[in-house]
Amino acid sequence: MAEITVMKGISKEFIAEQKSRIQILIDRKKDEITLAEENMKSSELRDSDKIKISKEIKRSTERVNVLTTLLQTIDNNRKYGTCLDCAEQIPLARLRSEPTATRCTACGTKHEKRN
Ligand SMILES: [Zn+2]
Repeated sequence: MAEITVMKGISKEFIAEQKSRIQILIDRKKDEITLAEENMKSSELRDSDKIKISKEIKRSTERVNVLTTLLQTIDNNRKYGTCLDCAEQIPLARLRSEPTATRCTACGTKHEKRN
């Protein structure tokens, strides 16, 4: 059985690139939160809308937290690019299309079915 080769084929440049892409996602979410918070101030909002918006804010905030944690994990080392479930390397193509992927395709599909 081959030992786990973390980061194999993942260059520093690739990681830096992925980090900046994740940072862009974080910034975008933060903008969404700011906008939603502005909307909340409107007096014309119905209560049902306010509930909806506050749920959106909560979801976006959670997403920001997840992404921030992911960035820290990358900084703190090697975990990036390794599947959380099976510890196999996540294919580079998958990471390119989805920089925030924390599972390989097979485990990701299983995970989504569970949730
Ligand atoms: Zn996996």
